[in-house]
Amino acid sequence: MQIKNCSKCGKMFQWVAGDTVCEDCKKKEEDEFQKVKKYIEDNPSAPMSQIAKDCEVKMTKIQQWVREERLVFAKGSPVQLTCENCGEPIQTGRYCLKCKTQLAAGLGNAIAKPVAAAPERKKLNTGHAAMQFLKK
Ligand SMILES: [Zn+2]
Ligand SMILES: [Zn+2]
Repeated sequence: MQIKNCSKCGKMFQWVAGDTVCEDCKKKEEDEFQKVKKYIEDNPSAPMSQIAKDCEVKMTKIQQWVREERLVFAKGSPVQLTCENCGEPIQTGRYCLKCKTQLAAGLGNAIAKPVAAAPERKKLNTGHAAMQFLKK
């Protein structure tokens, strides 16, 4: 057990593992995440700037959640994400499924997240669900 300063609020706390963020700040961030998630469900056509403004959350924070694949935008959403490798439009994360599969196959651990499922088995948004959120 170590005592560290929270990187967000500066408070001393008992650090165990992971980010140097205290429990209060972690909880606050989780609340923010739930708020943004709910907001996107209720407002699937809201642009990112409006989400950030209405939820009082930084856009960089929202982008981080997207890269972590915690937030998923609908196909019709004005929030346009593109694969960092090939530029294909994607709904979440950093790479399209094709590139993810290729990267996973070719480069082993080059990307941190394992590919969740084979492309043909993975259900993407098919129209009926405006929004999907990946469970951790
Ligand atoms: Zn803190
Ligand atoms: Zn791609």
